[in-house]
Amino acid sequence: MAQIGLVGLAVMGANLALNIESRGYSVAVYNRTYAATEKFMSIYGEGRKLEAAKTPEELIAKIDKPRTIIMMIKAGAPVDALIDTLIPLLDKGDTLIDGGNANFHDTVRRSKKMAEHGLMYIGMGVSGGEEGALHGPSLMPGGDYKAWENVGQLLMDISAKAPNGEPCCAYLGTDGAGHFTKTVHNGIEYGDMELLCETYQFMRNATDMTCDQMGDVFAKWNEGMLGGYLTTITSEILKFKENGEALVPRILDVAGQKGTGKWTVIEALNVGVPSTVVGEALFSRFLTTKKAERVEASKIFDGPEAMENVDAAFVEKLGEALLAAKIILYAQGCAILIDCTKEYGWKMHIPTIARLWRGGCIIRSNMLEDIVEAFETNPDLPNMMIAPKFREILKKNIPSLREVVAEGAKRGIALPAMASALAYFDGYRCAKLPANLLQAQRDYFGAHTYLLEDDQESGPRHTNWTGEGGEISSGVYNV
Ligand code: NDP
Repeated sequence: MAQIGLVGLAVMGANLALNIESRGYSVAVYNRTYAATEKFMSIYGEGRKLEAAKTPEELIAKIDKPRTIIMMIKAGAPVDALIDTLIPLLDKGDTLIDGGNANFHDTVRRSKKMAEHGLMYIGMGVSGGEEGALHGPSLMPGGDYKAWENVGQLLMDISAKAPNGEPCCAYLGTDGAGHFTKTVHNGIEYGDMELLCETYQFMRNATDMTCDQMGDVFAKWNEGMLGGYLTTITSEILKFKENGEALVPRILDVAGQKGTGKWTVIEALNVGVPSTVVGEALFSRFLTTKKAERVEASKIFDGPEAMENVDAAFVEKLGEALLAAKIILYAQGCAILIDCTKEYGWKMHIPTIARLWRGGCIIRSNMLEDIVEAFETNPDLPNMMIAPKFREILKKNIPSLREVVAEGAKRGIALPAMASALAYFDGYRCAKLPANLLQAQRDYFGAHTYLLEDDQESGPRHTNWTGEGGEISSGVYNV
């Protein structure tokens, strides 16, 4: 008999099964196509506490009660089909864990369905790719707390460990809280990657730096607050050579995406958070797919234009700009997590989430410790940008972000994520936005009413701006 079951032996499931087994647990594995199970067992089965099941029924029979089964299969309809297959085979008190990249709305729906059958459900974000699955991923579980009590120790055992040894796994809330957190993680990942790419684009368009030189600069930045997995791989990628030539300039500039960035932006819209950097990162990926049109347009319009005499001091400013934009990105990401309470009822604890992102996952970085400290010192911090450490960095680095964005605009180098980060910062630190005019416009054409700044107590007013409108105003509500 096995202590846990696992369904899905593609790259993630196979590596996760090996990880679980390596921590001393016995695992029963099942895959829809039995050939994959046979291959897995022939390579890894010898001498390990792994048992193969040919059918779902056989899998169920091989697991200790109450059963826990991790599903690592293709997200979407296959998960619903698998749940439908397993529900009649399971007993009350058993738990299914979905470790795939589920849309958290599906996780909420599936949790309800499982509960109707007396079964427990955990939706668990898993980050770290193949390597993470094998050696320790960052795990973001949410769902039935009782199921977490049963399986939490195993999940912490198999998770990545932060530099101080703490497990990168914690219970995050009911039903979809874990998959929601993974979604926001991936959205931040989109933003992080885009900011690094824009910095590279600036370097290659505005300067005469070689890929090696750029790689060295990213490696240097990696030693400070910009340090992290994505900065590390950016440096290594830029320095990578094939037949003596840098490989990266030869790679087609058309980006893929699998949906989680889009879900983050949709959720930001749902909770009313301006997640502009992730939004621009997503739209930038969309724009990359118009390759043929871009090539044609590049023949019609001039640009980009290089800078003259780019010195080490300017390269340093690029790093400062990147750090400022990254802080703004994370401030927006934390705001989505915090504001989801209003929409979904989860009370996200930012220090817990930042802690479990410190190891195993794609956005692991040095800055996460500072985020932990910021929200631990002030749990009611309204925006990460104003935490003492971040505000000092922003005060110092925003002039560099301004300069880089301005140079990009002047020279025709697209820096959408950096520019939107700066615009968000300038909007956030502005005591008087032009929404007074906006409210007047809304009232002018739609009688939507407005408040007077110096007399808000008197409530919404409507003005008959043209002398020809009526006195009836529209209802006051925000959607
Ligand atoms: P894939 O997403 O490529 O899915 C392949 C697996 O799903 C196979 O085991 C396949 O079985 C199974 N499957 C597909 N359709 C069905 C079905 N209708 N019924 C039962 N099983 C089915 O595998 P990955 O290992 O890449 O990813 C697994 C999950 O983990 C996905 O949700 C993915 O988004 C997520 N994830 C992936 C990461 C990665 O880096 N790859 C990182 C983090 C999460 P069969 O062999 O029979 O086709």
